[in-house]
Amino acid sequence: MTNLTLEQTASNTAPVYPFPLPALRFAYDALEPFIDAETMQVHHQLHHQTYINNLNAAIKDYPQLHQMSIEDILRQLDQVPESIRATVRNQGGGHANHQFFWKILKPGPATTPEGVLGEAIAQAFESFDNFKTQFHAAGLKLFGSGWVFLVVDPKDGSKLKIHTTANQDSVLLEGLPGLLCCDVWEHAYYLKYHNRRADYLEAFWHVVDWDVVARRLEGFRAGKRQL
Ligand code: MN
Repeated sequence: MTNLTLEQTASNTAPVYPFPLPALRFAYDALEPFIDAETMQVHHQLHHQTYINNLNAAIKDYPQLHQMSIEDILRQLDQVPESIRATVRNQGGGHANHQFFWKILKPGPATTPEGVLGEAIAQAFESFDNFKTQFHAAGLKLFGSGWVFLVVDPKDGSKLKIHTTANQDSVLLEGLPGLLCCDVWEHAYYLKYHNRRADYLEAFWHVVDWDVVARRLEGFRAGKRQL
């Protein structure tokens, strides 16, 4: 860990090979009853760990990627050797997306975005309720597996929008700074909600850590690259 650059240190990511499974800030049962303990444990220990294992195996022989955060690797995916690019996109995207997802979750009860973030959401979507409705609709509309994000327009930090990706694609592939994400793969909800993705999306709002989301927006506006 001695050769981190200042920028990488400030980004609060883990640019060291092999990528470790990041610890959660809370116990597996802490999001009950909204997200159940078994889902959290399987999701973190099995699904996320598998993305990391596959990513580590794919980049094993590419030392130029061993000192970069996964976020930086995805931002420059076109520079990843072609023979492993698709694997890095999928497995590395899976690592980055889950790492992001765990960060924006917290135990309930539900809170609401305040301050600058609350104002930005109200400006973009007319109201917080309307934002939730649109986010929910995007999650339901997404066919198959993927993610729903709240992102910042990279050219105009005052503009927020909802964006979805398929599979494990990260918004970083499109240069979009993410503020919030929701995993809508079936493995994120099937044990508790079975095929009821709508119920899972409703439950999600009870466990969003809006303070973290607000800090991401503030960080982006301050010119940091941790998004
Ligand atoms: Mn997942």
